[in-house]
Amino acid sequence: MTARRLVVKIGSALLVAEDGRVRSAWLDLLADDVARCRARGQDVILVSSGAIAVGRRHLGLTGNRLRLEEKQAAAATGQIRLAHAYQEALARHRITVAQVLLTLEDTEARRRHLNARATFSQLLGLGAVPVVNENDTITTAEIRFGDNDRLAARVAQMTSADTLVLLSDIDGLYTADPRKDPQARHVPVVHEIGPEIEAMAGEAAPGYSSGGMVTKLAAARIAIAAGCRMLIARGVPQADHAVAPLAAIEAGARATLFLPRGEPRSARKAWIAGTVEPSGVVVVDDGAALALRRGRSLLPAGVVAVEGIFERGDAVIVRTRAGGEAGRGLSAYSSADIRLIAGHKSGEIASILGYRGRDEIIHRDDLVVSESR
Ligand code: GLU
Repeated sequence: MTARRLVVKIGSALLVAEDGRVRSAWLDLLADDVARCRARGQDVILVSSGAIAVGRRHLGLTGNRLRLEEKQAAAATGQIRLAHAYQEALARHRITVAQVLLTLEDTEARRRHLNARATFSQLLGLGAVPVVNENDTITTAEIRFGDNDRLAARVAQMTSADTLVLLSDIDGLYTADPRKDPQARHVPVVHEIGPEIEAMAGEAAPGYSSGGMVTKLAAARIAIAAGCRMLIARGVPQADHAVAPLAAIEAGARATLFLPRGEPRSARKAWIAGTVEPSGVVVVDDGAALALRRGRSLLPAGVVAVEGIFERGDAVIVRTRAGGEAGRGLSAYSSADIRLIAGHKSGEIASILGYRGRDEIIHRDDLVVSESR
């Protein structure tokens, strides 16, 4: 798979057996896949379901439909076992696993979004494989993703991944539910999610696949808007149970590919430039303005003034001393902190603020440089 950064979502049905045990043989195959991708220099992030499925057995929660708090209790128990299973499977390849639990809010609020994004990039830089799940125990019904398809798409968006693979119990999108309609045809590529494609997803029928086709389309919409292509593929190939799931896709196993419009970097920049309301202004000297035009980050040394009150993660306008707009970006520091570190070297940040934050006020990935007029 030709990905630079790959997010793989693993559905509960693939990973957890009927008796609540983790299918370790299957997980070993996935670990082989991950090791192969890492050896090729690709970043891999796993988004895994299964905490509830594993935990409920251990707590003796046998009812058919669990109440929210029962699910949350189950997740609290199951998540430990789940993370441990990944740790063991990847340890065979000497790969370190890092657990990341997120909520919908973490991916939406820019402050937390920036933190989580920075942590992911740190972990990947250190060679670890993040294993992500929803922080089920603290989410309430209203603020829950509830399904890891959309969570995985948000993780892909947040980390500027270029490929998202949803491994599930179905090998892609069909014109109708193939179990009910023998005329149903497989759709190999989707260029645009219009009403026709939506109609194919039908209702979120339980069992059709863990999150249903509806949540998979919702995930596809998030992914392609973020410049990330998405694949829906079967985690267990019908014919051969011993093939690693990603290797199977590479070997041509059936899947549905959703094509993005742009690439992740430009999609992220469009998001910063267009949808984020600026809440302040950072005024920079000419040297910094030139550096920004050359694609560099904004360092505290180049800042001469701050206007407005904003928090870390908020969008700001970068202005030159002459008043022209140099760019827009997400600030890694609050306005109060920038006032203190403006004009100083990055190495002095820790002694001035009492904590060691980022070297940059606005990282170049979080900055859109204005067209020079
Ligand atoms: N977060 C849930 C769990 O780990 C799964 C949600 C889903 O299956 O999409 O059990």
